[in-house]
Amino acid sequence: MIYRRHIPREELFSAQLELLMQNGRLVMVVTHLVGVVAVVAMLWPYIGLNNALLCAAGFLILLLVRSLHMSNALVGGRYRSAPRSVYWQLILGAMATGALWAGIYIWAAQHVPVSLQHVLLLLIIAIASFSIGFAVIIREYFLAQIFTSLWPIAWWCIAHYWQQPHNLVIGLSLLAFCAVLMLVCNQNYATFRNLIAMNWEREHTAQELGNLSGSLKNRNRELSDARQQLANLANVDELTGLGNRRLINRVLQQEINRARRGNTHLSVIMLDVDNFKSYNDTFGHPAGDVVLQRLGGLMRRACNRAGEVVARYGGEEFLLVLPGADKEAALHTATRLAELVREEEIPHAASDVAPYITLSQGVVSIAPRQTMHLPDVLHSVDSALYEAKRTGRNRWVVREGGSELP
Ligand code: GH3
Ligand code: MG
Ligand code: MG
Repeated sequence: MIYRRHIPREELFSAQLELLMQNGRLVMVVTHLVGVVAVVAMLWPYIGLNNALLCAAGFLILLLVRSLHMSNALVGGRYRSAPRSVYWQLILGAMATGALWAGIYIWAAQHVPVSLQHVLLLLIIAIASFSIGFAVIIREYFLAQIFTSLWPIAWWCIAHYWQQPHNLVIGLSLLAFCAVLMLVCNQNYATFRNLIAMNWEREHTAQELGNLSGSLKNRNRELSDARQQLANLANVDELTGLGNRRLINRVLQQEINRARRGNTHLSVIMLDVDNFKSYNDTFGHPAGDVVLQRLGGLMRRACNRAGEVVARYGGEEFLLVLPGADKEAALHTATRLAELVREEEIPHAASDVAPYITLSQGVVSIAPRQTMHLPDVLHSVDSALYEAKRTGRNRWVVREGGSELP
């Protein structure tokens, strides 16, 4: 079925993970890196440069570990083989960094001036907002970060409303901001999932269509091969593999037309095995079949020039069409065939002609500027063959025939 495909849940999940890791790694590292540099610059007068650098180094190591983990999961394809565990590792990473930012703010709220606290808060909000990009791909990843960074800060501010004048307002605003981020995140996430699913469907449908058209092409090729084979079979004699009567009638008509158009010679030989009935009676019909096959092979050898066609006309009668052959050339072919048959020396003790198989041949030769209709050619060659039989067998009789062309 190619009409409707639905992306399997696991595949959708793996695709989301892959996208998140491919596109989110750099953004994650860069945003947090900027954040860390800014925090060190702001806080070192209060905690001392060494401590600030130490904390920054710890944070950077965490970032590095997360980034390495993502590339390993990508390269090793673990997002496909073990998507659940990759997913939870990503979520835990997001929670750890989120919690670190919340911790930094809560610490700073008790140790640095209010103005600096607000700058720090803006920085954390900016980092969280940048992460909304991830929300599009995996909602939970973004939510984990929000719920471990902005959410605790908001509640801490509300809980400590008496410590600073604007804490309550900041806390409530942060909660509202978190709610807005979650709404936007939900919306984008659903849209993006649909996009991935649609893309997957399109790719698979295209692939299936490709396969289908490939198999249709193969089927067409097979059909045309089969048609060709059938056409060949319709023209081939089953026993000898030579052409059959249907083929030779067509070929003969074509050659008559060609000879007339081109003013060329055309010769035809009809031959019949001598005393073949007694051969069958003596050696059996199957042995007779083998003789016919062997004779077919000899005829092929005698008629091997381009355009010459050999066919089994019926029973133990054969027809040779020799385009371009004049009387001498046709007689040369008849002689050669008789020699080949004699050399073959197929024993035939019951023959009254020779102790081996022999042939009688009727030859008709049509000169240029002469023509003959197909039935007349067949009649003429048949009567020449009959005469060869009548006058002793194992010989040939030649007729030159045809009416003058106007
Ligand atoms: P002739 O010299 O006058 O041709 O004598 P003949 O015995 O060959 O006489 P005819 O041509 O009438 O005999 C045809 C014989 O050919 C009869 C039949 O047994 C045999 N024959 C025809 N078709 C086949 C065939 O497919 N296989 C075999 N084994 N014999 C066949
Ligand atoms: Mg016969
Ligand atoms: Mg015969």
